[in-house]
Amino acid sequence: MPPELTAVLALCRNLPSPPGIALRIIELAQDPETDITTAADVIAIDMALSARMLRIANSPLYASRRRIENLGQALTMLGLNATISLALGFTVTQNLAAPGQGQDVRARAWRRSILSALAASLLGQARGLRKAEELMLAGLLQDIGVLVLAQSEPDRYLPLLREARDNDELLALEREQLDCNHAEVGAWMAEQWDLPRYLVEAIAHSEAPATPEDTFQACVALSGAVADIWLSADADAAREKALQRVNETLQLDSAQFDQVLARIGEALPEISALFETTLISPARVQQLIDHAQELATLRNLREMQDAALARQRADEFEARANRLAEQAHRDALTGVLNRRQLEAVLEQEFLRATRHGWPLSVAFIDLDDFKKINAAHGHLLGDQVLRAFAGKLQEHLRNSDTVARFGGEEFIALLPNTTETVALEVVRRVLASIVNTPMAEVASGPLFITFSAGVATQGGYERFADVQDLLKAADDVLYRSKNLGRNRVIARSPSTAPA
Ligand code: GH3
Ligand code: MG
Ligand code: MG
Repeated sequence: MPPELTAVLALCRNLPSPPGIALRIIELAQDPETDITTAADVIAIDMALSARMLRIANSPLYASRRRIENLGQALTMLGLNATISLALGFTVTQNLAAPGQGQDVRARAWRRSILSALAASLLGQARGLRKAEELMLAGLLQDIGVLVLAQSEPDRYLPLLREARDNDELLALEREQLDCNHAEVGAWMAEQWDLPRYLVEAIAHSEAPATPEDTFQACVALSGAVADIWLSADADAAREKALQRVNETLQLDSAQFDQVLARIGEALPEISALFETTLISPARVQQLIDHAQELATLRNLREMQDAALARQRADEFEARANRLAEQAHRDALTGVLNRRQLEAVLEQEFLRATRHGWPLSVAFIDLDDFKKINAAHGHLLGDQVLRAFAGKLQEHLRNSDTVARFGGEEFIALLPNTTETVALEVVRRVLASIVNTPMAEVASGPLFITFSAGVATQGGYERFADVQDLLKAADDVLYRSKNLGRNRVIARSPSTAPA
């Protein structure tokens, strides 16, 4: 600060001085022996201050479940440091906003101070700083230089205040006309008043071109830009500007930032009442809250869309994976399960049947004289027959049954929960249908086939030790049916053997 200005300010009769109560509280702040009882004694002298302390303790800033009834409870809840900070905030500034010359622009500066107080505190909270009241006080006092200059140098300073459309312009004009800025004046004033050191520092750094590294000071320095969101004609542009700085310095993202804005909006009516200032019209407050909520809604919507997209992609991926897995499980020629997968299913069904005592029937099916079909009509037609047969076989069975190609012209039908008698009936019905169904067209006309099958059942006539034994039993019966002349289905159990 230029020495001339220091001299002017030091000698200035208009210079605001803190009221007596504020001086007492400044003393409290400096005394390391101060305890909450002493603070309560000082605050209790001032009825207005007591009422404000009580009111702030019950405000949304301290979402206390229990209603705070008296000053003692309020101060105990707040704690010593918070009590002193808040009491300082309420008293030091008391005369600064008093009516007088340049009321309009001074009222505006005062509004910005109060918004900055909230902003500094809530930015700090969002960053996890445990100094809500100290931040509030520092935010409140960061522009004290503006009020001091307006009161002590009205002729030089009020025109600047009127001319400047925003804080940046004000700083430029101050530099040009006064060769200092309001932060320097504010810090000097705070020092004159013997305010705690952290306040002097925070005020001094509040308009530094580069946002301070110290988080506390950064919250204070950024609080003015946040306050401007409420004061600027273009709130959206002000929000963008503040968000960018807050994001760079405090690493708060857009959602966290909007949460801070919403909380400022919530606390505003109470704070403006506390400082006996109509800060902002209630309509404007509501508008800002609505806007923040709109932004939050938009963001939620976007998140929901992103989530839906991610889900859709996951579904597609899963479907593709399933298709690939399916392909790995299926026989390429016929589309029924391949042998490897059959073994897995068989193992599972065998375990389940054994555990619960349910019957599990296996039909081993082998097409009759297939070599002759290949020989007569070619391998490709043989393939076509295999495909047609597999499809028909599957059609005749239930969804819960499994059809697999065991190899070559051999198929397995797995019928869970099916007794030998029923399985025999089912496979015989299939055979009866197959023999009447053309499997392909050849030169001589439709081509018909027959098959032979053997049925064995776990939990029927016998209990097999494992899957291989069960399969072998079915294969043995198949062999018997071939020997008996083909084109037939027989079962392992003698009672169901064909007459
Ligand atoms: P049987 O009545 O005793 O079962 O006589 P078969 O000729 O059907 O029996 P065999 O097991 O001797 O011959 C099976 C034939 O099936 C031999 C093979 O060429 C044919 N085959 C195996 N896999 C395929 C295939 O994928 N496509 C075609 N077209 N033929 C196949
Ligand atoms: Mg064979
Ligand atoms: Mg065969």
